[in-house]
Amino acid sequence: MSTLEIHASSSENKNGTCLWQHIWKANIPPKVRIFAWRLARNALPTNKNKKARNILKDDTCNICGMESESTYHAVVGCSHSRALLEAMRTDWPVPDDSLLQFSGPDWFLLLLDELSDEERSVITRIFWRNWSDRNSMTHGGGRLSIDASARALRAMQRTLLQKQQNIIDDVKGKSPLNVFAGKQKHKVPLEK
Ligand SMILES: [Zn+2]
Repeated sequence: MSTLEIHASSSENKNGTCLWQHIWKANIPPKVRIFAWRLARNALPTNKNKKARNILKDDTCNICGMESESTYHAVVGCSHSRALLEAMRTDWPVPDDSLLQFSGPDWFLLLLDELSDEERSVITRIFWRNWSDRNSMTHGGGRLSIDASARALRAMQRTLLQKQQNIIDDVKGKSPLNVFAGKQKHKVPLEK
């Protein structure tokens, strides 16, 4: 076990940074944050977890039929998940394959610890989409489309950026909701 892994099991890296802050400080929508907690805690209802709880006898992945459906397989290893990661790589900073390796039970927190803020946000959203696609395919019988998933991720990103821009505009007084915006042509000197 590496030093990093030992620290990870106590939820801190070698610099004493709590690894969980990579999730709670990430720039992601609330539903994606909740998913990330469950992913990091191995609390997603994967076939492997269901088998461990005697809910299922066979934990083979329903999508590829090739491997046991662990959390890692569901969001990284499976064919659909791999394909979406590759599709997003064309214009998003998706971490290199060498970082997307299974490194033990804490693989997700350890991966986040290797990434920049932007990469953390990007990879968590792609993993969330991979898990959502899997659920809609298994439970709703929907068809998987890499193009549709990629479009949905990009739309989510645009909405988030727009919201952030609105907040910035609001702070700067540019928001149309601010009735005084545009009327203050002269700076009023502060009263002494
Ligand atoms: Zn699979």
